[in-house]
Amino acid sequence: MSVRLILVGPPGAGKGTQAKLLCYSLGIPAISTGEIFRAHAAAGDELGKLADSYTSKGELVPDEVTNRMVTERLAEPDAAGGFLLDGYPRNPAQVGALDGIFAELGIELDAVVEIGADDESAIARLLGRASEQGRKDDTEGVIRHRIELYHAQTEPLITLYRERGKLIEVDGMGTIDDVAVRVREALGSFLDARA
Ligand code: AMP
Repeated sequence: MSVRLILVGPPGAGKGTQAKLLCYSLGIPAISTGEIFRAHAAAGDELGKLADSYTSKGELVPDEVTNRMVTERLAEPDAAGGFLLDGYPRNPAQVGALDGIFAELGIELDAVVEIGADDESAIARLLGRASEQGRKDDTEGVIRHRIELYHAQTEPLITLYRERGKLIEVDGMGTIDDVAVRVREALGSFLDARA
């Protein structure tokens, strides 16, 4: 199914897991800017070093760098049949850049799925993940900063996409399977209602 989606939600809401499950069932690539930065950091290349100097502190990587990376990624052949963006856009300026990329490619956004989670549950999940995955940015101070940045810079996107009639809100609390079912059902009804 050719569908173009954005997944938004606070750090610790389970976006990455839900992105993979949904993309598997839809047969589209999950494009996570955070994962691309981590892959470059693991490879030790220039982009990775630059990104790591921001991600390790929980800061956003500069828009210019992130927007260019997404422009290149969306031009790859596997994105032609649809995709899900996980963790991008993350501020209003990135929304503007993404609008430009879509216009350039002659494509339209289908929906934005918001996975909601309260701050304390999100922090608890991330601290749990820290012991499993050892991500550098999963220490309590950095986690709190990432959540603050989410409220200040990313949350305004929810209003913006709601006003555009693209927003689907899903409760991110519960088991992975519970949330996956909610996401699939909410997206299915949204796309059916539009058809
Ligand atoms: P995530 O895997 O989505 O939690 O992202 C991990 C980190 O990568 C974030 O805390 C940021 O430092 C960086 N990052 C990911 N996506 C973006 C973005 N759209 N803009 C700027 N920085 C980003």
